[in-house]
Amino acid sequence: MSVTEQLLRVYRVDQQLNGLRSRLKAAERFLGEQEKQLAGIGQQSASLDSQIRQLTATSGDAEGEIKALDEKIEGLRERMNTSNTSKEYKAILAEVNTLKERRSEHETRALEAIEKVDQLKSQRDELSNSKAERERVRGVAVEQRDQRADEIREKLAELEKQREEIAKEVPPRVLETYEELVARLEDEAVAPIEVQDRKRHEYNCGACMMSLPVETMSTLLGSGALTHCVSCGCILYLDETAKSLMLSASKR
Ligand SMILES: [Zn+2]
Repeated sequence: MSVTEQLLRVYRVDQQLNGLRSRLKAAERFLGEQEKQLAGIGQQSASLDSQIRQLTATSGDAEGEIKALDEKIEGLRERMNTSNTSKEYKAILAEVNTLKERRSEHETRALEAIEKVDQLKSQRDELSNSKAERERVRGVAVEQRDQRADEIREKLAELEKQREEIAKEVPPRVLETYEELVARLEDEAVAPIEVQDRKRHEYNCGACMMSLPVETMSTLLGSGALTHCVSCGCILYLDETAKSLMLSASKR
């Protein structure tokens, strides 16, 4: 088996591993999204609670002021009834009117606060509905994540073991090159050669689509040594179609 073929075996197992892990990763991402949404709802709800507390205190203050003013006004009214002169009467009346104005300001403040509290409470109710809904979705997401983790556990362990064994057969430096390329190019680290026109020796890289020199093909057909694309640097190989096409051509 050539170095390229040895490496290709590792690559194929890695692809299966990635495929398995990506399904689990997607489930984990989905769960993470639900957690984030719930945290957001928690923050909103805390902020509503604190606004409701403040406004309730405001309306309580205003009610207290109103009560104190009512008592003062009541006292003044009694004095009005017993006032002896019209001048005194008018002076007390003016004072009563001033206090009434202040009372009305406090009343407005209390009413506004109570109205706002009602609004905020209905917002909080809506929020608690969406929290319940979101918690339900999170439950589903947890189940899905666990289920996927269970589904792949055995297969994953099996493939990891398999990879370890076949990777041992690849020269360490070649494996290192491959792993560096995977880190950099991900899915495009390894690509098949595409035969465009066999007779005219036109081949291109399956990753970057750039044309390849004839030597690339002859190396892979010959020794099968590690061969990179001259353009993108990926590791090239011949898939079954290309191989049989090239071999049948050489026989003829
Ligand atoms: Zn390329």
